[in-house]
Amino acid sequence: QGFYNFVYQPIIEQDEEISGIIAVATEVTEQVLSRRKIEESEYRYHNLIHTSASLILILKGEDLIISVVNDSMLQSMAKGKDVIGKPMLTVLPEIIEQGLGDVLHQVYKTGESSYGYEAPVHIMRNGKMELSYYTYVYAAQRDLNGKIDGVSVIATEVTPQAEYNQKIKESEAQFRQMANLMPEKISNANAAGDVIYFNQTWGDYTGLSFEELKNGGWQKTIHPDEIKEVTKSWLHSVETGNDFEVELRIANKLGEYKWHLTRAAAVKDNNGKIKMWIGATTDIHDQKTKEEAKDEFIGIASHELKTPLTIAKAYIDLLRMSLQKTSNEDFMYAQKAAESIERLNGLIGELLDVSKIQNGKLGLNITEFDFNEMISTAIEGIQYASPNHTIHRSGKIKQLAKGDKERLQQVVVNLLSNAVKYSPNAKVVDIHVAEKNGEVIVAVKDKGIGISKENVGKIFERYYREEERATHFQGLGIGLYISYEIIQRHNGKLWAESKLLKGSTFYFSVPINYTAKKL
Ligand code: ADP
Repeated sequence: QGFYNFVYQPIIEQDEEISGIIAVATEVTEQVLSRRKIEESEYRYHNLIHTSASLILILKGEDLIISVVNDSMLQSMAKGKDVIGKPMLTVLPEIIEQGLGDVLHQVYKTGESSYGYEAPVHIMRNGKMELSYYTYVYAAQRDLNGKIDGVSVIATEVTPQAEYNQKIKESEAQFRQMANLMPEKISNANAAGDVIYFNQTWGDYTGLSFEELKNGGWQKTIHPDEIKEVTKSWLHSVETGNDFEVELRIANKLGEYKWHLTRAAAVKDNNGKIKMWIGATTDIHDQKTKEEAKDEFIGIASHELKTPLTIAKAYIDLLRMSLQKTSNEDFMYAQKAAESIERLNGLIGELLDVSKIQNGKLGLNITEFDFNEMISTAIEGIQYASPNHTIHRSGKIKQLAKGDKERLQQVVVNLLSNAVKYSPNAKVVDIHVAEKNGEVIVAVKDKGIGISKENVGKIFERYYREEERATHFQGLGIGLYISYEIIQRHNGKLWAESKLLKGSTFYFSVPINYTAKKL
């Protein structure tokens, strides 16, 4: 198949008669095919531009005349097809003062492309100025000789995504601002445990810049006595995702160490993977030093009270002995005085124990002893002082035990007297002793007022007493604290199970044969 151009010409004779036709044919196959190719490629190119989801615009000449524009672009500009042939900057004059006119001219002049990422552009749409965001490229268009003859614009509108990112940025800025206003020292760490943010309060307190704090400066502010423990505990949290809580001393900008409480919790994604950590550090220096001063005062005061009390006790005992023979009534008075002195003696003893624990001086006097007999002595004492309750006992230990007999008896007495004290309307308190896997387990059970779930963890703390109830029952709130320490030193455990208004069971377990803890 070929393509031809034909020219037909009549042959005219002298008498003007047509005697024939000359047909001249030129073969043009080549030209036709190549024109078709051009048309086809232009059609494709045209199609590509017009069906593209990208916004496409081709501007010709120095005046940036709109020569090609696709529907997506027209839609985004809120304009019709009539813009074709008009200069870009008269069609969208609002972009001039936003600096985009200059950018287009620059591209035209230099041939260097210009890129924008989520760039805000205000566009007048139907009489209203609207903000949209675009990711775009402006590139120079060249003719066959390589001379710049226009600028192409290819853009994507990214408004929702940009607004979303903007919101995140804003909310982050708000968080930072809030964190900076807090008197607390706030920090963020990444999943690997590296601290990546400190609020202003951190900087104000330590006198270090954000960069200095971040690059290991904060570790240098921690007291040398605590740094090892703090680091260990932090690494453990980072590994397990468990909450982090430590008391530590942190140096201020003058180099003075103040006590702080630092807590951090992991922020996890839906799959439970740690995304980051949020930490808050609170100044507890006053509280802590007050507590220390209180402990110290209690130590001194109870020590001072102990001596005159011991003397008074000795005299009352003498008095009691001599009155026993003569006057019944006076003997009873002396007896009552002796009981009160005994009680006072017990309270002062508890206070002295607290200060011994505080100073690490609560030593154990380890001997071999009969555990069952120790229990009997403890029960006898309580039974004598509380005739309204019956103490039921069960279980026995078959072998001798090794430990501090006096101190363990003190624990049993404490648990039994609490059981009696906190079950004023009950008749019976149970104590059960058992032996299991080389340990003695003691359970003291009452049907008393019980302890609420949220408080059951606090009762072993020093000076803790349940607030509303404290007024009804006498006590200093330190018996369980001392018991806990004694059991700990025996490498044992002390714990409680309780139901409010139903009663409590206190347990402790200690190795039958005490062995010193290896350090
Ligand atoms: P306290 O001198 O106040 O008895 P403890 O340290 O022995 O001090 O006990 C601490 C607190 O625990 C008590 O104030 C009380 O609120 C609670 N508690 C202890 N034992 C019992 C019990 N058997 N039943 C209910 N509450 C108890």
